[in-house]
Amino acid sequence: MPELPEVETVLQSLLPILQGKTVNSVKINHPQVIGWPESPLTFARELTGLIFRDGHRRGKFLIFQMSGERRLIFHLRMTGQLFYQEGFVSPAPHTHLILVLSGGGAVNFKDTRRFGRAYLLRPGEEKEAGNLERLGPEPLDPDFSPNDFKDVLKKRSGRIKSLLLNQCFLAGLGNIYVDEILFRSSVHPETPASRLREEEMDRLYCNMRTILREAISGRGTTFRDYRDGTGQAGDFQGLLQVYGREGQNCPHCAEEIRRKKVAGRSSFFCPRCQKDDSYDPDSIGECK
Ligand SMILES: [Zn+2]
Repeated sequence: MPELPEVETVLQSLLPILQGKTVNSVKINHPQVIGWPESPLTFARELTGLIFRDGHRRGKFLIFQMSGERRLIFHLRMTGQLFYQEGFVSPAPHTHLILVLSGGGAVNFKDTRRFGRAYLLRPGEEKEAGNLERLGPEPLDPDFSPNDFKDVLKKRSGRIKSLLLNQCFLAGLGNIYVDEILFRSSVHPETPASRLREEEMDRLYCNMRTILREAISGRGTTFRDYRDGTGQAGDFQGLLQVYGREGQNCPHCAEEIRRKKVAGRSSFFCPRCQKDDSYDPDSIGECK
């Protein structure tokens, strides 16, 4: 949490507000959240006076193009929230970074677990922003074809769930959407990638893109912490079919949904629809 759809929603809700605004001052309440430069004082001094020009998402990173050829990058990790507030509002607890903008509003970076990070990069400093430089392809990139997906899968060993969670393999997926993609594709989370059949890979590719687009349309999934750039919760949690639904009935076959640790993460799946080697073409998961 937050995954690709949530980060995309934060970006889409913040960017129109921030574009053209200047950072008038920077207040750092907890220096640990500054990932780069090493000195938080340098971060604050160099960010002050810069203007928000543009922005995009890469994997789970929010990347703002600033004036002066700088990029301001956020990774929200587990519980990070990045949101805009009009006028002066006394900051909520766990607000570690505040950017006061021209016009009087402010961008707040709040994070109860404090794993989130903010980076201010000059050109050539990409390697300082966590694993940004090592990210795999974007699942929604129009140039990322089913054959590209199959080619990278065929080269990998390991189980499909851990592979889909690996940001260097594919950028942006996390525990929630991987469980949903596997369920809709009738693929067991522990299936070795090398044993996936051609049609299973086709279904995974297609369901991955469909579910991510649906979740962006639903403005992301909120269980506890996730909010968009204006502080609003997402709507997609009601549309999840297996994630967080242990003990409930599978929406397809009514078998009880199970939870099991796979790749160190709680994994939700239907033991009947997602048998290791029993795909029924009349079952769920056909992707039109
Ligand atoms: Zn089922």
